[in-house]
Order: sequence, then structure tokens, then C-alpha cells
Amino acid sequence: MSIVTSSHGLAKSALSKELLFSFISIFKMNANGDPYTLQTADSEFKSKLTILESISKSFPKINCLKSFFQNLETDEKFLLFNFLIEDDVESTFKYKIAIDNINKKPSIISHTDDYSVVNDYVIYCFGDEKRYVGRKKKEERICRFCGLSYPEVTFDKKAHAISESLGNKKIFCNDECDSCNKNFGKLEQQFYNSIAFLFSLYQRKGKEGLRNIKSKFLQIDNNSSPQPKISFKNIRVDLPENIHDINGFHFEVETPEYKFIPQNIYKCLCKYALSLIASKYLSKLTSTIKWVTSENFEKKLPYIWVRDLSEMYDEPLIGIYIRNHLSAELPLFFVRLFVLNIEYLFILPLFEEDDSNSARNFISLNEVISVKLKEWFPGIKFFEKDYSSTEYQSLPITVTVEVPEGSQKNEFLEPTLNNTWVCDEL
Ligand SMILES: [Zn+2]
Repeated sequence: MSIVTSSHGLAKSALSKELLFSFISIFKMNANGDPYTLQTADSEFKSKLTILESISKSFPKINCLKSFFQNLETDEKFLLFNFLIEDDVESTFKYKIAIDNINKKPSIISHTDDYSVVNDYVIYCFGDEKRYVGRKKKEERICRFCGLSYPEVTFDKKAHAISESLGNKKIFCNDECDSCNKNFGKLEQQFYNSIAFLFSLYQRKGKEGLRNIKSKFLQIDNNSSPQPKISFKNIRVDLPENIHDINGFHFEVETPEYKFIPQNIYKCLCKYALSLIASKYLSKLTSTIKWVTSENFEKKLPYIWVRDLSEMYDEPLIGIYIRNHLSAELPLFFVRLFVLNIEYLFILPLFEEDDSNSARNFISLNEVISVKLKEWFPGIKFFEKDYSSTEYQSLPITVTVEVPEGSQKNEFLEPTLNNTWVCDEL
């Protein structure tokens, strides 16, 4: 038995024949006594849920299902199937989109429907509900990254499809072995480093509570007061000679403790998407997987398009866009990831084995995408950033110093954080 809803996702349950009879009596049925596929969680339905109490004595798990039904919105429509829906990405989405349309619910899957991008791409979104992508049984699992299967590799750890440090508690990849999971730690740490100070500044909790920034020049302390305490050390702002002509100026603070390699950020973003994309596409992405899992770097990558958001995503949300036609002018896959108040839009780059000109191809792809983004998402302004560099760099934090009237030369002024960092050059 599978139930697909808009507000609470998917529920599945295997019931014995005897229990099934009383269970299905809570649903609306046709003349033959078969429950309809389309059901409504109206008040009549909710009052019938007490019937489930009698089943709970012999099948305690039914209580979960009972509260699942109770929590459905009043008059919400849902789908009921007398079989277990397969776990693959596409069939689950097919039903979810269908029921969201029936409920006219502006879910994350449909909120992009207003945009013309749907003419070129099919969209799969993750992050709004709990999802395990890949094979359920450990013995049947094959790692999508190293290609090894159980028992050659183990699958004991729960692999987060997107790092837990970014707030992900909902999306997991079953097809990621323990050894690949461990290896990705380095990439994930670097991605976190690239935005670590935002987690402190916006007081977003990690696994161990609120996070602090302890860097040579900048400290953000969340231990003592309800507001983050921001302090700068070892910085001396000497006012320039022409202080009467300026109101303030910007400079960059270094945070050598939060280092990352830009190309590893791109690898990490691709890893997130590779953990979630339907497995049938993986054969097209072998060169991408090879690049992500190796220490090798490419000479040139496509841009990543970023922007500041007005809303805040405490848990990351990701949309995977798969081209729905053959025209090779557009990339086959691109991805939008929402973390905190940042969106990253990036192509899953395909590196052709014998293509020595891939750098040139990416340049033309960049141009195509930059034009297309204006058409697909009118009114949204993205900033192009090049993450090809393979040199370590530290979290770029821009600081602003206001110069009040009457300031004297060589006077010390307290800097303040500038929040437009995301649009800055790397
Ligand atoms: Zn593996």
C-alpha cells in the first residue's frame, strides 16, 4: 500500500490480508468495494481514523500511519495505491507532481512552472521531504562513485546526499559506500569553509549547536549574547590623507583558517547532484564522477552563477534540471542549489576523454547559459563566478569602514562586515 500526499510526502506500508480489510474500510470505495485511487482527507475520513486503533493492537506500526493521516490538511487530496511505489527518483516524482497539481499546491516542484525553463528541462527537486535515493537493501547496493558493490565495499554509514553541516537532515544517498563517503569529507569541509562565516553570522546551528568563527583577524562569537558578537583583531585602519573627501571604504579581511580550493567547491556541488540524480543518467556522467572522485583538476570549468536570496534556507534545497530534447546547444544537466541565503546555479560538466578543446566549449556554454538565464528566469540577476582555480584561498570577507565627520588622520575606526560578499570576485 502506498500513499502519496502533497503536504507530507509519501507513506508506504505492508499489511497482512486480515488487517488490510479493516484498514481499507476508512477510504472511499466504489460499488465493488475497491478503494478509489484519489481520496480526500475530509472530516468524514478523519473521523474514521479511530478504526485504526483496533488494528494497532496487532500491528503497532499503524499508529504512524494514523498520525500521518491526521496531519494531512483538511480536504487535502491524496493518492492511494494497492502496491508499493518503487524507490527510484522518477516514479516518486511522477506521483508527487500529479497530486501537487490536483491540490493546486505551489510546491517546490511546481514553483518553477511559471518559468519558461520547463520548455527545455524536466526538474527534480529534493529537500522538502525525507528521501533516500538508491537501493534499499544493502546487499543490492552499488556505489555510484567508485562502482564497487556490496560486500566489496560496505554501506554501514548513512550517507547525506548534501552535507549535514549545511543543515541537511532529509536527503540521503543509499548508493554511496563508506569509503567514498569518507573521501568526500575533504571536499565538503572546503565547501563549508567557503561560507562558514555566514553560518555564524546568521546563527544557523550545526550538529553541535551554534558555530563560532575564530580567525586571526575576525571573530564571531555566539556563546554569550543572543546576537553574534563580531570583533576584529590585529586590524589597524589608518585613515588616508584625503579623509574629508570620503565617507567610507572597503577592504578585505583574510581568514586563513577557512581555506578552500575553488575547483573543489565545484566538485562538491557536483557531488551533491550526483548523489541524487536518477541512476539511469549516471552512464552519461562517468567523466564527471571520475573528476569529482579523483585528485585531478581540469584546466577550465564553466562558470557558477550565484546570487543572494531574500529568503533563508535553513535546510538546503536542490533542483536537478535534465534537458528534455536533443538540441546539444544547451547543457544536458544543470543544477540549482539553495543554501542559507545563497543560490548556486551550475552545469554538471561533461569532460570528453578525447576533447582537448573542452575549455573552449565551456566558454561558449557560458555565453549560451548567461543569455538563457535571462530568458528562463526573468527578473532574477545572477553573478558569474569562475571556480576553475586550483590554488588554495581563504574565505573572502569584505569589510566596510564608515568614516564619521570630524575624523582625524590615523584615528582607529571599527570596521563592519559587508554583506555583499557573494557577488565579489573570487
Ligand atoms: Zn564508493
